[in-house]
Amino acid sequence: MTKKVFIETYGCQMNVYDSELVKSILTDNKFAITPIEDQADIVMLNTCSVRDNANRKIYNRVHEIKQKKADSLIGILGCMATNFKTDLLDKKGLKIDFIAGPDSYKTLPTLLSSLLKTGEKQYDVTLSEFETYSDISPSRKDGINAWIAIMRGCNNFCTFCVVPYTRGRERSRDPFNIVEEVKQLVKEGYKQVTLLGQNVNSYKSDDYDFTDLVKMVSDVEGIERIRYTSPHPKDYPEKLIKLMTERDNICNQIHMPLQAGNDRILHKMNRTYTKQEFLDLVKQIRSINPKMALSTDIILGFPTETEEEFQDTIDVVKQVEFDSAFIFKYSERPNTRAAMKFPDDVSEETKKDRIIRLNDIQNEISLKKNEALIGSTQEVLIEELKTKKSENEIQGRTDCNRIVILDKNDEKIGDKVFCKIIGASRNVLKGIVR
Ligand code: SF4
Repeated sequence: MTKKVFIETYGCQMNVYDSELVKSILTDNKFAITPIEDQADIVMLNTCSVRDNANRKIYNRVHEIKQKKADSLIGILGCMATNFKTDLLDKKGLKIDFIAGPDSYKTLPTLLSSLLKTGEKQYDVTLSEFETYSDISPSRKDGINAWIAIMRGCNNFCTFCVVPYTRGRERSRDPFNIVEEVKQLVKEGYKQVTLLGQNVNSYKSDDYDFTDLVKMVSDVEGIERIRYTSPHPKDYPEKLIKLMTERDNICNQIHMPLQAGNDRILHKMNRTYTKQEFLDLVKQIRSINPKMALSTDIILGFPTETEEEFQDTIDVVKQVEFDSAFIFKYSERPNTRAAMKFPDDVSEETKKDRIIRLNDIQNEISLKKNEALIGSTQEVLIEELKTKKSENEIQGRTDCNRIVILDKNDEKIGDKVFCKIIGASRNVLKGIVR
């Protein structure tokens, strides 16, 4: 009988994409995917080791699943699998039946067959220097945006980050293979693609770099919007800013992780740029394209960060005026260099205080920037035919990735409409169709 699999995804967009790959691999190998956990014979948790409390959350979920349905087979995929390896299978009181790391998903059908046949725990957490899954077509959710992983792994070894250990070294897909995928997505009705990589500007395939790839994707007939995430500030290319400015279908939006604004902390994080270099990059981007929206990630309370050093981060936030920022408290990730070398010595109270203060500053900036758009005309790509608050409203995004709420008329998902902005909060704009 066909076994039904339920997949639950945690963490970043790369994991969302990987779950789409896993679904495709399994359905090609006589397994069925179910969106209903209670109907599943096998539950897979595609895990993340980046965020706080990630491990505990997964252990609790495993207990919960087993309590609900004792005969469910449970597998751990993703970063936790490569981070903890067979320790996960051996962990007392934790009933995990199989684990597979991010480079082992093609072996899942074999692992599952062996598990079903023998009842013995199975694992494959090998990291590959070559696996890019370019021969697998992900089983995507309908919508207007398709995620495309253009590369896998990371060579940067930021000291707080586990990704280079859990996802291995950088490998890039062939650009022509990516272009074919984009052409197919356009045929299927997708309007937007988001190119994914841990550090997209390290993309390299023979003589093709990331700017070449974006240009090739932009040349695909019918693709309306192109986004990408995330670049690294250490080597962001000027020619890419110019290309984005010249091409209408490449969105004027960059998510550029700052992480910290102080040179000593940046050095301890192994980010390999200074505060001034980051500010110079922003100046360069804005001198070429003043419309470019900038968002960022920031970690507060990295080991030994002083109040004075935190003030440097505030200073960058105030000078740059990011459109939005994801601000996190530092917390140790097992097996990272920071966890092994630097005691987590900034108190929880101090971290909380810093996060509140920086969020207040950023919220004010985001509101000010959104309010400045009142009265302007924006082109909005419709993404949802309802909002969290109302069935009578729809929502979409501007080229700069701002959410705009509109009254419902007869628009459809994927339509582009011009609207006048009539209201703003720090997170969303309100518009009326012109
Ligand atoms: S660039 Fe740094 S933070 Fe990003 S995935 Fe690589 S090591 Fe992690």
